[in-house]
Amino acid sequence: QKTIVWFRKDLRLHDHQALWEASQNGSVIPIFIWPHEEHHLLSGEASLWWLHHSLLALQEEFKEHYGVDLIIRKGNSLDILIEVMEDTGANALYFNERYEPFAIKRDHYVIESLNKIGVDIRTFHSNLLYNPFTIANLSGDPYKVFTPFWKRCLNESISRPLPRPSLLNGIDKVVSTIEVAELGLLPTIRWDEKLHCYWQPGEKGAISVWELFIQKDLHSYKTGRDYPSLQAGSRLSPHLAWGEISPRAMWYSLEMEQSHIPMNEQIEAYKRQLIWREFGYYQLVHFPTISKAPLRPAFEHFPWDENQDNLLKWQKGETGYPLVDAGMRELWETGTMHNRVRMVVASFLVKHLLIPWTYGAKWFQHTLVDFDLANNSMGWQWVTGSGLDSAPYFRIFNPITQGEKFDRDGEYIRKWVPELTKLPNPYIHRPWTAPSELLKSVGIKLNETYPLPIIDHDFARKRALAAYDKIK
Ligand code: FAD
Repeated sequence: QKTIVWFRKDLRLHDHQALWEASQNGSVIPIFIWPHEEHHLLSGEASLWWLHHSLLALQEEFKEHYGVDLIIRKGNSLDILIEVMEDTGANALYFNERYEPFAIKRDHYVIESLNKIGVDIRTFHSNLLYNPFTIANLSGDPYKVFTPFWKRCLNESISRPLPRPSLLNGIDKVVSTIEVAELGLLPTIRWDEKLHCYWQPGEKGAISVWELFIQKDLHSYKTGRDYPSLQAGSRLSPHLAWGEISPRAMWYSLEMEQSHIPMNEQIEAYKRQLIWREFGYYQLVHFPTISKAPLRPAFEHFPWDENQDNLLKWQKGETGYPLVDAGMRELWETGTMHNRVRMVVASFLVKHLLIPWTYGAKWFQHTLVDFDLANNSMGWQWVTGSGLDSAPYFRIFNPITQGEKFDRDGEYIRKWVPELTKLPNPYIHRPWTAPSELLKSVGIKLNETYPLPIIDHDFARKRALAAYDKIK
């Protein structure tokens, strides 16, 4: 049999079920198609930068391990698949499922069309721990609350991850392909060079980050994960978003670690985050409007304020609230932001500024290297209070006390907001309260070198609660 393995958001060789199954049964034709039909929906600029480099890495892996070419094409997925089948005589198509509504629709169409011409099609759930279509509560309905979902997941078995195939038979025929560069994934204004300082896209990069994390930071994960200056997270999210590492392989290594140290709460905390990721995909599958509309209908009538000036100040990290500004600048510089700070900046946008969460989600889509429709939508709806199992609207993050609690000595703030570096600790989270002599001595001129708060916290809080009262 000659099988086309269609790579999408699973840019790896290990525990890749579609590739593994195809490799067991004849020759394999690996292909990545940059599809016209989902172009603008798939990603933003930062994650396209990631995709470009991840594809180069995957091409190299195929060459190095198997001497096989990864075919790269752009255009309509179905047309290209049919063309490659005709060119190569392939009679089977295997791929791992995707879960975004537009991808599900497109895949149904591809499957239906190719079934009609007798192609053998097999699909797998290789990018998640569980098949989201089969998990339901006792009444057969989808779960809406995280904790019962998490408990249910823990009762499901997870099969052992597959190794990368030791051998892969390619085909003799040369198949038409293009260079990764021809996909045009890199931005025309080259702001992206700096991202290389922080990331190594591709499976090799993913595995080395994971191995280092297990050795070093996993055992203090729960204790450290909320403190942005500690960098206690695994930083695997962009690798997971592009499927460069398999969650099943990660889970398996966590179980191995737990067999030495059972009931370890640090490992348990990490597993919980992986299940939050599953819950994001689960919601996207069962509540596909999550990326566009509030899941709580009352929020459709929320009195938002679409103030473009404030939106711009938020995007540029010029709100006058140091923790918010540090987060937004970290995002711009590195393509990521610490999870605790994501919650604070998102809350600031929707609750302090009353700007619609979809504007924030769009900005994250363009700037995050780990942008992922499922988790970004769940994150924003969670913070807004419009999601299924989300923070209640009346719980409004205070950007000053969050800073005092989670960045006590202002280390994170000083890293990303250098104009505040010399400000002593008592004022680092509220520079506007510092005596003017002190500000002068550390070179800060409020509203010149660093902005005054664009909105007063107490006023914003009352205004947000009043707005919420209108829709309750
Ligand atoms: P770790 O703490 O090491 O966690 C391990 C993995 O678990 C992560 O890589 C991620 O895949 C998953 N995970 C961790 N926390 C969450 C969470 N809260 N929700 C879902 N999955 C989680 N994550 C994305 O991958 N893509 C996004 O586009 C995204 N947008 C977000 C938007 C908002 C407003 C918020 C509040 C959160 C968002 N998150 C998103 C979730 C989370 O912030 C990141 O996954 C996390 O910061 C990544 O860092 P890490 O890899 O070090 O995570």
